[in-house]
Amino acid sequence: MYMDIDACGCSNTCRHCSPDGHSPGGEFYSLSELRAIKQQWGPLTIRFEPTIHPHFPEIYAPDIAGEHGGWLVTNGCGLAQRDDADQVMQKMQWMGFHTLAFTLHGPRQHHDWFTRRPGSFESILQATRRARKAGFITHWQIFVDRKGIGDIAKLVDLALSECGELPSLSVPYHRVGGRLWRYEALRPTLGDIKPYGLSELIKDPKKNIFTNAIALTNRAWLEKWRQDPDSGEFKHPYEPRTWSDLADYDFLSLRITRHRKVFLDPMCSPIIYLGNLSEGKEIIVGRLEVLPKPAHVELQPQELEFSPGEEEHLHPSGFSLRYKEISKKRLTSCV
Ligand code: SF4
Repeated sequence: MYMDIDACGCSNTCRHCSPDGHSPGGEFYSLSELRAIKQQWGPLTIRFEPTIHPHFPEIYAPDIAGEHGGWLVTNGCGLAQRDDADQVMQKMQWMGFHTLAFTLHGPRQHHDWFTRRPGSFESILQATRRARKAGFITHWQIFVDRKGIGDIAKLVDLALSECGELPSLSVPYHRVGGRLWRYEALRPTLGDIKPYGLSELIKDPKKNIFTNAIALTNRAWLEKWRQDPDSGEFKHPYEPRTWSDLADYDFLSLRITRHRKVFLDPMCSPIIYLGNLSEGKEIIVGRLEVLPKPAHVELQPQELEFSPGEEEHLHPSGFSLRYKEISKKRLTSCV
């Protein structure tokens, strides 16, 4: 069972943020509350932007958080803005962090628009420079969307000069119930990426998902799904494989919100309310036994219908296509 907690919110409100990260941030949970929750529920994953918690990086101590593997995924806000950023980064190194990973959506203007926070691009730039100076490895991931696609080559050059290594290029995956449905209007198509040569921009397929873009279209994923309707590729690991004995599923993902409510996050449906944190683990986990199966999770490949041009939309995984189609069904049937 994985436990996410919204300990401090986020400085940004990005257009693709599937778990619904948003500003304003703050200290939603103190260190002592986090320790008490960990005691009961097990190691916590700090969701959204950990660097804006006043007790970052202490919120990653082993008596609160699970293994971080040395990596921190961050939008850089706290590291760019905090007066004590140098001491914070030193503490991070003592705690075993060695790599910072940032996600960008385009150069300054487009990135700030996408993240809905003026200054968010500058935060990444400042945090990257400070982190490199302090000896961290910095990695930029670029998410491509239709509106910002024309500037990706420029951003790749900037990534190389700021990080000393090429960035990775990708697109977000869809999940049901987050703000991804609106993002879908920005999802690039095969036709969108061709004029900008994104397939050849970075030749390493481990860094550039578009090197084999033809395999990422709705059409290609659907064909794969038709050939093997039970393939695990069309379910995120957090999606329960059965809805009858849910509590036994190893990869179950639960989320504790800033409002001290606990939800199941099954990816194939909007998050499902389980109870108030104050009710305790036993009662809340007990409710997993009686959850109804969410709408449309049994969608079959032969039911899919694409609107004109939709076959060409690019998804990074099979489950992304399936979840987008479940979202579509839910919206058209109002469930
Ligand atoms: S910075 Fe990350 S956590 Fe915050 S809104 Fe954007 S994607 Fe979500």
